[in-house]
Formats: sequence, C-alpha cells, structure tokens
Amino acid sequence: MVVLHYTEMADAETALARLTDPEAKVSAHYLISEAGEVIRLVDEAKRAWHAGVSFWRGIRDVNSASIGIELDHPGHALGYREFSEAQFSALVPLLARIVEEHGIPRANVVGHSDVAPARKIDPGELFPWDRLAEYKLCLARPDKLEAGDPFDNDAAFYLALERFGYDVTDGHKAVEAFQRRWRPEKIDGEVDGQVRAILFRLLLDRDQGRTR
Ligand SMILES: [Zn+2]
Repeated sequence: MVVLHYTEMADAETALARLTDPEAKVSAHYLISEAGEVIRLVDEAKRAWHAGVSFWRGIRDVNSASIGIELDHPGHALGYREFSEAQFSALVPLLARIVEEHGIPRANVVGHSDVAPARKIDPGELFPWDRLAEYKLCLARPDKLEAGDPFDNDAAFYLALERFGYDVTDGHKAVEAFQRRWRPEKIDGEVDGQVRAILFRLLLDRDQGRTR
C-alpha cells in the first residue's frame, strides 16, 4: 500500500531534519516539498517508520507493507490550508510509478488517518483525493448511491467498515476518518444515511471487481 502524510512542520528543511534524525525514530520513503521537490529518503525495498500503530484490511504492520510519502505542509496544528499545486504535480508521477511498479491496488492508496483513525488526521480533508482519482491513483468517491438503507443496524455498518479496511476499535473515530476521506464536507463521526450509502457503494464496486 501507499500511505500519504503531511509533515505538520513549518517547512521542508525542518521536516527533513526530523526525518533524518535517528533520535526521532521516524522516517518515510519520500518527502515532497511545497515547491514540488521530491526527496528520496528510504529505499523502497526497505521498511520506513511512518505509519506507527496502524491497521488496514487485516494488516497490522503497515510499515512493513507500505511506501510512505510525506507532504511538506503545516498541517492542522500550524495552519491548515490547501496543498500546493507544485506539490500535487510532483506527487502524481511519483505515485503513478510506485503503484505500477509494486502492483498496488487503488484501494490501498490511503491517508495516514485511514490506517490510524484513532490517532491521526493527516493528510486531512483538504487533500485532493478527487483529483488523484482522476489519474486513477486512488479510488474515486462514489457518485451513484443506492437509495434506501443498505445496513440493518450499526453493527452491520461497522463490520462492513472493517471489511473495507478500517480499524473500527474506536467506532466514532473510524467514522470520522471515513468521512475525512470520502465525505469531507461533514466530519462528525455520526453514521448517517449518506455515509452508509458511500460505504455500501465502495464495497460493492470492490466485490464486483469494478475497483481493486
Ligand atoms: Zn502521518
């Protein structure tokens, strides 16, 4: 899989210093500056320490199963804002090459918040997943939603959410992470009809082989 992050640091130099400091015990395969410079930090064949305690589609050791890409960005802590155009333009070809070379399913190009919903919110609701999906580098937000309620009760919903990939140990946080990724205009952790319909469509598309 590929996990996208923001650095939550003032600038790329500060982030680079931290990502290369042995004491910090954090690393990522790539850092992309806001100006669009791609810095390779860890060989793709090697394990980097970017995901921490995390989970995705049954995998608990995400670091051993992923490429980590850090986006130079102030994050929510230092002034959340749009991701720069230059950075996005640098990310697209890098990601395209990585998913191609490693045969990574689009459903496994995720944000840090998707794999660690109880702890993380990066890269956050302003990350342009929809634009990345136009390049077929991640799943698109489903548009054709079924009418009616696909899940009988909340337990059925959470089971489905876990089947899609999320750690649902903290249900409210898992729903927040799901919303941050799939319905960023309203993030409240509540399982509403639209959230249920989006998850149902995502699972159906994957089960029927329309996405992988
Ligand atoms: Zn992160």
